[in-house]
Amino acid sequence: MAEEKRDTILVVDDAPENVILLTRILKNAGYGVATANHGGQALELAGQMLPDLALMDIDMPVLDGYEACRRLKADEQTRGIPVIFISALDTVDDKVRAFQAGGVDYISKPFYLEEVLARVKAHLSIRHLNEQLQFANHELAMRVEELTDSQEQLQEHESKLMAFVNALPNLSFVYDEDGRYLEILANEASLLRLKAEDMLGRLINDVMPVPEAKLMMDAIRRTIETGQTQIIEYKIPVLAGGERWFEGRIAIMEKAQKDEKKKVVFIATDISERIKLYQEAHRLATQDPLTGCFNRRHFLTVAAQELQRTTRYGQHLSMLMLDIDHFKEFNDSFGHPTGDKALTELVRLCQTHLRTTDVLGRYGGEEFIILLPEIDGEKASQAGNRLRGEISKLGIETSVGKHSITVSVGAASFDRTRDPTLDIDALIHRADRALYAAKSAGRNCVKLWADEATR
Ligand code: GH3
Ligand code: MG
Ligand code: MG
Repeated sequence: MAEEKRDTILVVDDAPENVILLTRILKNAGYGVATANHGGQALELAGQMLPDLALMDIDMPVLDGYEACRRLKADEQTRGIPVIFISALDTVDDKVRAFQAGGVDYISKPFYLEEVLARVKAHLSIRHLNEQLQFANHELAMRVEELTDSQEQLQEHESKLMAFVNALPNLSFVYDEDGRYLEILANEASLLRLKAEDMLGRLINDVMPVPEAKLMMDAIRRTIETGQTQIIEYKIPVLAGGERWFEGRIAIMEKAQKDEKKKVVFIATDISERIKLYQEAHRLATQDPLTGCFNRRHFLTVAAQELQRTTRYGQHLSMLMLDIDHFKEFNDSFGHPTGDKALTELVRLCQTHLRTTDVLGRYGGEEFIILLPEIDGEKASQAGNRLRGEISKLGIETSVGKHSITVSVGAASFDRTRDPTLDIDALIHRADRALYAAKSAGRNCVKLWADEATR
């Protein structure tokens, strides 16, 4: 019946015939057997070989079975060895003492061989089950310890991550393909519209204003379709007023489960400062600082684009060149700051009278240039004349009351169908010639380049 590893039984009895008999039947049953003649020897052997079970007589010289059993149980190393008493003493009191000493069972002498074997077998299997249980318990305790450790590590990682998140200027979102907020990693202060917990589970369309939501959703769709990271710039109106600009980088998240919706990670970086600097730089590069209209360089850039457009779609392109009459005298009489005011007010007046497609620029000191798309020379000259009339009515506040200014205007125009090669410089040159003619004709008037006088 022995298990794979042969179980060993320690037989302890001072009667040699008992020892011989028990040894034989146990060996026949497949057990290993060790024998001792009294308790002292039993303890010594038990400590050396750690038997799987002990069959112990009670009444023995030197050290009796009770005491031997008590000592086995008192020793950490031998405590687990089950002790079955086999004794001729068979009062209830004897049996109770046997159990109190730590025995697991009690067999009365004379014994039946089958009974001895059955009890040995039963207690060995209890012992083995116990050992398995202890082993499983130990394993369990180790797993619990590991889990506790990894939970602590996880918490540590999480708090590190949160420290990073709070320190970073970036906001990270995970969306599904419908634009639903699945995860938000951001410090609360940087979320402009809603708290994270109020956004989770909702759609971009429900959280963002319509144009921005559309821009973001289009980019998410493109990311999913192409698998390529998309970069967008967008602004978010702040509830308290104003707006913030963001750069959004959207990348697909790997390993979506088969039936799961696709997911993207969206990293938003606040670029408001960069945009502000860019806008400021752009303003400085394109505007005339005094009057706010386009500077000469930017006017020429825009004019070149207009010329291309005319070449493709249009027919006429016209230009007006305005120069304030006797402005040196005006400055000399009223001072330079008042001259500046006259320039600013002239620009404001022109802007209110021009069409949105017209382009106004400061060409030089007191010289302005206007591009009039899709207008022929005749109409340009009429527009120039209307503007001249309005300017002459503009009273500039000076130290000695209101003073009016006048302008001379040169107009030029070309018909793309007749003049396909003419460029902006040529148009400027013609307008300048016409302006010269207007000055020569006595000022405060308009001359069109086609006029005989301008040739
Ligand atoms: P004309 O009728 O022939 O154009 O005479 P004008 O005096 O206007 O012409 P001129 O070219 O001799 O003088 C232009 C004057 O415009 C000289 C300059 O002081 C003035 N001017 C140019 N730029 C500015 C400016 O930014 N501010 C002020 N206040 N004056 C300016
Ligand atoms: Mg001038
Ligand atoms: Mg002038």
